[in-house]
Amino acid sequence: MSNSQLLSFHNWLVDLRRELHQIPELGYQEEKTATKICRVLDELGVPYQTGVGKTGIVARVKSPKEGPLVAYRADMDALPLAESNDVPYKSLHPGLMHACGHDAHTSMLMGAASVLAAMGDEIPGTVVFIFQPAEEGAPAPLATRSCRTSIPMWGRPAGSA
Ligand SMILES: [Zn+2]
Repeated sequence: MSNSQLLSFHNWLVDLRRELHQIPELGYQEEKTATKICRVLDELGVPYQTGVGKTGIVARVKSPKEGPLVAYRADMDALPLAESNDVPYKSLHPGLMHACGHDAHTSMLMGAASVLAAMGDEIPGTVVFIFQPAEEGAPAPLATRSCRTSIPMWGRPAGSA
């Protein structure tokens, strides 16, 4: 990547994070967040499955070259806190805030998907991107169970027999 490409990638990530920061949603209510993630994945040409663990998304980048399956995860939900920051990208949802960094985590995962999708067949195997709903205190089994059932459709996890 050239310096100008790096700068534009950086700005894209910052914009993504700020857009997500403005639309914080509680666990299993991450509808706007999921819509934003799907829009980005569509732009990247990365296939995905929605409704995983209710509002979660599982995307994948699969190389034509055989190889292991690796998964990355980011949490999507926000907290029931009012934002007192005075910034242009302040929360638009009264009483809710991305105070734990899930807006950054989700942006980073989309950034990783962007970079890996652009690498094509340079990396063998499959990379799965799990956008996990309701990380903050909500019961995890629903999301975990859904991921366990959707990931095997796409390949064998690294290190499995
Ligand atoms: Zn958190």
